[in-house]
Amino acid sequence: MKKGMNTPTVRWPDSLWAAVTPGGPDLPELVGCREADVIVIGGGFTGLSTALHLREAGVDVAVVEAMEPGWGASGRNNGQVIPTLSRPDPDDIVTKHGAAGERFVALLRDSAATLFDVARRYEVAAEQEQTGWVQPVHSPGRIRIAERRVRQWSKFGAPVELLSRDQVRDMLGSDAWFGGFWNRSGGHINPLALSRGLARAALEKGTRIFARSPALRFERRNNRWVVSTAKGEINGRALVVATNAYSGEFSKSLVSDIAREVMPVLSWQMATQPLSDNVRKTIIPGRQAMSDTHGELYFARYDARHRLVTGGAVIGPGNKAERIKARVTERLQRLWPQIGEVSFDYVWNGYVGMTTDFLPRIHRLGPDAYGWTGCNGRAVALSIALGSELSKAVRGVPESDLALPFTAPLPIPAHGLLRRLAPMMLLVYRRRDAREIG
Ligand SMILES: Cc1cc2nc3c(=O)[nH]c(=O)nc-3n(C[C@H](O)[C@H](O)[C@H](O)COP(=O)(O)OP(=O)(O)OC[C@H]3O[C@@H](n4cnc5c(N)ncnc54)[C@H](O)[C@@H]3O)c2cc1C
Repeated sequence: MKKGMNTPTVRWPDSLWAAVTPGGPDLPELVGCREADVIVIGGGFTGLSTALHLREAGVDVAVVEAMEPGWGASGRNNGQVIPTLSRPDPDDIVTKHGAAGERFVALLRDSAATLFDVARRYEVAAEQEQTGWVQPVHSPGRIRIAERRVRQWSKFGAPVELLSRDQVRDMLGSDAWFGGFWNRSGGHINPLALSRGLARAALEKGTRIFARSPALRFERRNNRWVVSTAKGEINGRALVVATNAYSGEFSKSLVSDIAREVMPVLSWQMATQPLSDNVRKTIIPGRQAMSDTHGELYFARYDARHRLVTGGAVIGPGNKAERIKARVTERLQRLWPQIGEVSFDYVWNGYVGMTTDFLPRIHRLGPDAYGWTGCNGRAVALSIALGSELSKAVRGVPESDLALPFTAPLPIPAHGLLRRLAPMMLLVYRRRDAREIG
């Protein structure tokens, strides 16, 4: 053990999920020298799903997590289970990645079903509701976005439908939208409960999970991967780096190329007081998950205690938590005047890793080593599904059978400067949102 290296203190965000979710399993730190066939760095959905799928195939696997399972994006997101990317549609993906792109689209199409199936098989109680996901359009011209999505996803056999303005009004209880895109396989979950449930399932299957053990670096030694932490190291044949938008959080040099491929943008999440039965009858009565076409996204879903879980973004000086509360209160009352007084019992935030083209980046990092980043705020379902594919990759399934469109890491130039400027993109989004599309 190196002198002066303390165990990191785990501070959970002040989130609804941290308040209502039973604690996770007790986990050891990584101390001394260990060995595994496969090492996974990062204990979010990607890392835990990779480990679980590897154990299903009987592979020896250890997860090294900087804090606790679900501490990153996986435990603090909105919990919407969405089987699409944020902007690119199937044709964009196939044009860019060819046959691998087609396999990736199929993975994405099935990703929500995969998540609900994993939760069911491992009896994970994550407040899951497969009520569908709706993307209402916020201007008449944007119905073309929904039409295109329905056309392209239908070609791939996804359970999608175009909704008229009346259908969206009935589904969401608001006149604010002009129709929409509907995918029946989506829904929502308590994401921290899913993270902790996956960790428990992975442990029960024989995965070793080390917590409070930030990986400082990994390197190749004697044809093995060696991952070092402050108090120990672990070597393995194969490696999966599943640190995503939190890649630069604990070690700037762990995967600096990957960390610089995305702009980590702070997304605010908040949960209202529980809404009364009467109000709920008129606001998203079918309890679907909803995120619309605004660049400054409008999104909402209920939790199991009938709170509306929503959020937004703010820029500039001042108390951001107070400003986001005022902004989102005004929005909710505009969308649903029947909601009346709004108060927020929980307000928290987390980093979303945005890429310049809204496509994820999936990489081979060396012999039997893989990683990905670039969730663009849409990868609750995808990260679970990717875990299954990454587990196949480390088991030697040929690339031609994998739904993994690999690219070489491509850091964004002047990343440090652009990261400081990235929040200003919100102003660009607001201008675009106010304009009709051509
Ligand atoms: C606020 C917010 C809202 C979102 N809402 C939605 C949504 O509603 N629907 C949707 O589809 N997507 C949403 N997303 C995106 C979604 O949460 C992510 O795509 C998904 O959780 C990514 O999972 P992951 O396992 O790849 O990454 P993470 O969950 O971030 O896991 C990475 C893990 O790596 C660990 N780590 C980092 N560095 C090290 C290190 N050096 N050593 C060891 N461990 C390390 C971190 O502690 C973390 O636990 C949202 C994201 C955020 C932040």
